[in-house]
Amino acid sequence: MNKTVLITGSTSGIGLGIAKKFAKEGYNIMFHGLEANGQDIANDIAQEHNINVGFSNANLLQSDAIEHLVNETINTFGSLHILVNNAGIQFVSPIEDFPNSKYENIIAINMNAVFYASKAAWKHMKNQNFGRIINVSSVHGLRASEFKSAYVTAKHGVIGMTKVMALEGAPFNITCNAICPGYVKTPLVIGQIKDQAKAHNMTEDEVVEKVMLKKQAVKQFVPVEAIADMAILLAKDSSTTITGTSFVLDGGWSAQ
Ligand code: NAD
Repeated sequence: MNKTVLITGSTSGIGLGIAKKFAKEGYNIMFHGLEANGQDIANDIAQEHNINVGFSNANLLQSDAIEHLVNETINTFGSLHILVNNAGIQFVSPIEDFPNSKYENIIAINMNAVFYASKAAWKHMKNQNFGRIINVSSVHGLRASEFKSAYVTAKHGVIGMTKVMALEGAPFNITCNAICPGYVKTPLVIGQIKDQAKAHNMTEDEVVEKVMLKKQAVKQFVPVEAIADMAILLAKDSSTTITGTSFVLDGGWSAQ
């Protein structure tokens, strides 16, 4: 039987890269995201790899929509083995100007949705004695940068949540781990380059060179493929004892 993976935010950036890797491995995939062409993306990958797919544009700001997304996955494929909590947003601003609505949305999508989706999948994973929960946190789950109060708070929260889920999941072969990338060149980061340029009063090229990759020893954006490879490893049957930890793919940022 092919296993089923639900990847939030998989019609863009890192989530899409993870989905492509799972597609190559023959998994059933529930695609998810707000991109208008999400269904087409899912269909094209299904055709290319001869796999079963679904697509949902559930809004992660709503806990009932998240629960529905998980139930829809289980109903469509008859199972849910791997949950990749990947969707996320960013907003960059000094604290005093940070709009409350932006702060609340970042906490809701980047942190609370991880809890609601995992909670909705929990009983099913427990009953089948198999679950792999993979949370895409960030190097900002371990380190801070100025102007990112909401994002750093949410990503640190996800790492704490990952540890609790690992403890509670252990008796049921449910593992939970976080992946913490440095900068990856996706639509989310392309947006940040613009915001940071404004916040730091720099050109976009200066932001990439002097701000973004300043803290990475390896002066390259982290490839999506490396993150996807890590997700594939964590999803394996043999990864039962890998749990409660964070895998940092940050070009040496947090080594300092
Ligand atoms: P992206 O903008 O390319 O993709 C984000 C996805 O989340 C999209 O599919 C989008 O539709 C979905 N999404 C956003 N808000 C949503 C909502 N309200 N409801 C449903 N779906 C929603 O971003 P990305 O760079 O691929 O980021 C993916 C994850 O990786 C995020 O959690 C991000 O914080 C994390 N991350 C990114 C980087 C980076 O440098 N790009 C680094 C570390 C961690």
